[in-house]
Order: sequence, then structure tokens, then C-alpha cells
Amino acid sequence: MNILLVYPKFPNTFWSLKYALKFISKKATHPPLGLLTVAAMLPKGWKKKLVDMNVTTLRDKDLEWADYVFISAMSIQNASVKELPDIATTPTPLWGLIARKKYATMSIQYSRGCPFHCEFCNIPALYGHKVRTKSKAQIINEIEALYSLGWRGDVFLVDDNFIGNRGKLKRDILPAMSAWMEEKQHPFTFNTEASIDLSDDEELMQLMVKAGFASVFVGIETPHEESLTECNKVQNKNRDLVACVKKIQGSALYVTGGFIVGFDNDPPSIFERMSTFIQETGIVTAMVGLLNAPRGTKLYQRLINEGRLLKDASGDNTDFSMNFIPQMDYALLIKRYKDILGRIYSPATYYTRVREFLRGYRPLQRKTFHFHFSYLGAFFKSMLFLGIIGKERFYYWRLFFWSLFRRPQLFHLAFTFSIYGYHFRKIFEECL
Ligand code: SF4
Repeated sequence: MNILLVYPKFPNTFWSLKYALKFISKKATHPPLGLLTVAAMLPKGWKKKLVDMNVTTLRDKDLEWADYVFISAMSIQNASVKELPDIATTPTPLWGLIARKKYATMSIQYSRGCPFHCEFCNIPALYGHKVRTKSKAQIINEIEALYSLGWRGDVFLVDDNFIGNRGKLKRDILPAMSAWMEEKQHPFTFNTEASIDLSDDEELMQLMVKAGFASVFVGIETPHEESLTECNKVQNKNRDLVACVKKIQGSALYVTGGFIVGFDNDPPSIFERMSTFIQETGIVTAMVGLLNAPRGTKLYQRLINEGRLLKDASGDNTDFSMNFIPQMDYALLIKRYKDILGRIYSPATYYTRVREFLRGYRPLQRKTFHFHFSYLGAFFKSMLFLGIIGKERFYYWRLFFWSLFRRPQLFHLAFTFSIYGYHFRKIFEECL
């Protein structure tokens, strides 16, 4: 049996990091983890070939060769997806099928499901409220497999909420990861996604840092309390969100954040407040999107009941579209939303945020630096595109020298954020 696994092309969006990847001569951020895992479940005797259309081209002869073609993509899943394999028995992905050098990050998955019920989110509907996790042995085998294949650098834990089962993390998983990282002399930097209540758990944050975690994506959504109530984001309510972010950052985890405008309860002042809030938190990578209602969410159903649903959500949170009729005037909402993006990614504001963040950021653990030749290329390309011909050149050089002399141990981060900033600015300029 010849099996062809095809990963469709991503459009150029906020998360594609297309403009940033070219600095390090990479073609994609992450490999297609789902397909690699499925490939590992197929009989050993079958021939397998993977075509990731983000890094290579799908040719007619690939299709002619195949008896079956498997396709995986992030989209609203249909009923057959409910027939999932038990995550606790999934094998280590067949990493050998990809050209690792073409990827900036490797990914693994520890858990599925989330205990929360945010109205706009389809994770609880797809994966359930009961958090299902892999075993300690599975996780260690997966990172060991990546290590044996020669991978060094970033590994993203793709869980929607990594801290859904804290007890097991503290007891089992994080101590095992720490011991493994120590033994191998810190070959990886882990990144993941977690809910804001991570900030309540000092012990958990310290264990994550010790295990080699560097960043967490947190769904902050909005600083407006009534909008948090509306979308049932209970874990974000009744707390000082700026202080929570600072607390996570203070534990040496840098926070990337998700924000939303377009809630029914958003007041006209939300746009100004959102920009100020982002600047205050020092969240460098702030993804601000328009509220949309994916199929399968409680929001989708509510909007149907209210006769406000227009179409399926596109899945692209930077395409300036909403799939329902908002309470606020639509044209005004889009205009003010663009104002937020223009403001937070203007070179002056963005670079100030980066500097503010780096000023207070104190990584606890000395990570082993893994040099790649692509970094050298990125260094010179950034000087050309950002430092000479970019409209951010003044801010670029100011940050460059400031970090070099004031925070030399964070110079690599300043440099990475400069490249990210270029991507974010370009992507929004393109959309605008
Ligand atoms: S916490 Fe995150 S993953 Fe969980 S329901 Fe809310 S948005 Fe979805």
C-alpha cells in the first residue's frame, strides 16, 4: 500500500510568520504533527510519503504513486473527527518523514480538552471538558525521538490549555521533563498555551521554567469585564489582568496574548482601552482579532437563535471579517479595529513595548544556545531589511544597541522580536 500524506498550504496570516521566517531561511513554523502521528499508526510494511505544501510542491506523480491520500488541516471538524484515537495510546509521530531543517519549530502534544467553557471556542465541543493526557513515558519518548534525530531548539506543545490537569503536570510530567533536560544539557526550549489562572500557581510556573519552558500564549481576550461575562471567560474575571501577565512574565515566562473585539458588550471606548492595555502589559506578540463564531460553539448557536449568523467563520483571524451581525455599527467596528492594529504594530509603539518587556524580563535559567547558520543569515538580512531599508530603522538600531549594551543576555530576544515586528507590520499593512 502506498500512502500519501498531504498538508495543505497555509495562507499568509498573523501566525504564518512568513515574513519572519525568511530571515532564518525557513519555509514553515511547524511540521504537520497530526499527519505524522497518523502515519505512525499505519502498518509498518506500507510505504509512506509526506508532502507538506508549505515547504514543498505537490506533484502529479506523487498522486499517481498513491493508493490513498490522507489530508489534515485546521478547520471546523465534522462528525467523523469525533471518532478520535485515545490520546494515551497514540504512538510517537514518525518524524523521519519530514525534512526537519525546513522547520523553525518542532511540535508535540501532551493533552486534549479544556475544563473551561468560553462561548466562542470550539475546543470543548471538539475535544471535551475532561482533559485527556499522555503518560510521562509517552512525552519522554517523544522528546527523546526528536533529540535522537538531531533536533535542537524550539519545541511547541500544541495543547489548547497545557495546564488543564495541574496535578499530573506537577507530580509527573514536569519533573520528568526537567530531569531529562538536565541530563541532555538543555537541548530544547518549550513553548505552549495556557489559561490566565497559571498566574495563580507559583509552583507550577517555577516547574515549567525549570523544565525549559520559555513562553506561553494566553487568551486574555478583553480588559472589559462585561465582555468577559458575556463570553463566559470566568477564569479571566475579577482579576487584575495586567498584574497577572506581569506575574507570569516575572516568573521568566514571556507571554504572548490573544485579544478580541466585537463583543456585544464592548463599549465605544474599547479600542483605545485595548491598545493601552496591550502596551501596559508589555505583551510583545499581541494577536488582536475580530470576534467570530466557529461552528460547534455556543456562540454559533446563540447567534442562530438571535437571527444574526451570516456565514461560516473563515478561520483566518486577520482577514477583517465577522460571520455575524455585531451590535456595534460594522463599518465603525472595522475602522476602529484597524486603528488598534495600526497603533500596536507601528514601529514606535512596538519597539517601546519590546524594550519595556526586556527591561523587566529576568530569565532564571541559563539555556544552552544552539547555533544555526541560518541565524547568521537572519542577522544580516535583518540589518538590511529592518536597519537600512525598513521604515523601522531608527527603532531597530536603538533597540539593537540598547540590548547589546544594557541587556546583552537578551540580545537574541530583541533581535527575534524585531523580526516578528516586521512580519506583524507587513501582514497588517497587506491586509489594510
Ligand atoms: S480556556 Fe482557551 S481552550 Fe479553554 S475554552 Fe477557553 S478559549 Fe477554549
